[in-house]
Amino acid sequence: MAEHPVFDIVVLGGGSGGYATALRASELGMTVALIEAEKLGGTCLHWGCIPTKALLHAAELADGARESERFGVRTSFEGIDIEKVHSYKDGVIGRLYKGLQGLVKAHGITYVEGYGKLVSKDVVEVDGQPYQGRNIVLATGSYSRSLPGLEIGGRVMTSEQALSLDRVPESVIILGGGVIGSEFASVWKSFGADVQIIEALPNLVPNEDPAISKAFERAFRKRGIKFSTGVRFQGVTQDDAGVHVTLEDGKTFDAEIMLVAVGRGPRTEGLGYGEQGVTLDRGFVITDERLHTGVGSIYAVGDIVPGLQLAHRGFQQGIFVAEEIAGLKPAAIVESGIPRVTYSEPEIASVGLTEAGAKQAYGDDAVQTLEYNLGGNGKSQILGTTGFVKLVRRKDGPVVGVHMIGARVGELVAEGQLVVNWEAYPEDVASLVHAHPTQNEALGEAFLALAGKPLHAHN
Ligand SMILES: Cc1cc2nc3c(=O)[nH]c(=O)nc-3n(C[C@H](O)[C@H](O)[C@H](O)COP(=O)(O)OP(=O)(O)OC[C@H]3O[C@@H](n4cnc5c(N)ncnc54)[C@H](O)[C@@H]3O)c2cc1C
Repeated sequence: MAEHPVFDIVVLGGGSGGYATALRASELGMTVALIEAEKLGGTCLHWGCIPTKALLHAAELADGARESERFGVRTSFEGIDIEKVHSYKDGVIGRLYKGLQGLVKAHGITYVEGYGKLVSKDVVEVDGQPYQGRNIVLATGSYSRSLPGLEIGGRVMTSEQALSLDRVPESVIILGGGVIGSEFASVWKSFGADVQIIEALPNLVPNEDPAISKAFERAFRKRGIKFSTGVRFQGVTQDDAGVHVTLEDGKTFDAEIMLVAVGRGPRTEGLGYGEQGVTLDRGFVITDERLHTGVGSIYAVGDIVPGLQLAHRGFQQGIFVAEEIAGLKPAAIVESGIPRVTYSEPEIASVGLTEAGAKQAYGDDAVQTLEYNLGGNGKSQILGTTGFVKLVRRKDGPVVGVHMIGARVGELVAEGQLVVNWEAYPEDVASLVHAHPTQNEALGEAFLALAGKPLHAHN
């Protein structure tokens, strides 16, 4: 083997988890090689968080144009110029991409373009070139899964193809009513498509507190987004006219295209992980709570580690692993303390335990909940949105869950996250002043009510 430098850390995969590891490690004075096969920034920046949120913003403007009469503003919605929508979306991505490339360069990280493979416990090989690390961090992310026998192609697509579709489809079937499916449903409905969601579980956004899922279904129904829940998909055929879908109960649906949004699988196959002794479970990399794989000095971060597949979890895990390697002994990341947002209209935001989760953890009688309706919140009335905040606390103890639904509530999750992760009591938060009129106040009011001193509450 030719002579080559030994890095403190070799990171395989330049998405949210991988590049966060690299940036933090270099800040801590370590030498880092960051290996990326496609584009620095990974799924989130190029095919995930950022493009979908740009589409959702365009969708919000379309709704605003349609509904402006209600606020006394005369305007009319004339349609979507999809080319311009894409150029706006790509402009946002392009600026962030450039910024990220600059950051990686400024940190002195050795950026390697190419497809890497773990060939020993401390070497990743790219095109025959070895990159040796005192520590290795696996961060190869995820891909859009399909169902057995369900082939992607033509009119049947995943989020990657849907994000650059050259038209607004007249009608679309979305397989999967989780976060990604619901966000696309929201965009396409606002853009003028006829939308039908198919979800095998009993509810849309099934990971949320059932009170939130039900309110979300009501809101989608009101928007004219159709959905079928609790019945499994059986098959699809496609021809020049469109896609033809059958469910196991015999129901059929036709549409111009179908989006498959049934979850994301770990990108770990053929990368040498198993051969080096890393434990894989259905393709996911198993680690301890310190994200160590149990093999050599190999760590894993991001979507390949079982749990919430979210970019900010990847960022935090990356920072954690860099600090762990540097010997800073960071506190382990608590998975339930990671905020979750669905950016559709309406938005959903939650952090901590659901009511059922809290009852399971602490016992039925040890949990107290409170719902504060956005109807009593001035700013929500001004925006014309409905929804509520649901708080879950341990009786006489801290708040362990915050759940919200309504326009723009994603921005409110910051406070919920601080309250849950700092294990605040409602009584503590109730004495902190929330600006009026903000939607944030709804949280303040909910804490006041839970502390036994409701202000603008009707129940
Ligand atoms: C449509 C959609 C919307 C989303 N919206 C949100 C959102 O709003 N908020 C949120 O928090 N999360 C969102 N996510 C999830 C988020 O994108 C992921 O959680 C995040 O990207 C995971 O980061 P990662 O680093 O684990 O993997 P990735 O971002 O997938 O990065 C992995 C990288 O590794 C590279 N790679 C893989 N194998 C190799 C190899 N052998 N050699 C070299 N490089 C390799 C890949 O090219 C990729 O760039 C969304 C995802 C999708 C699909």
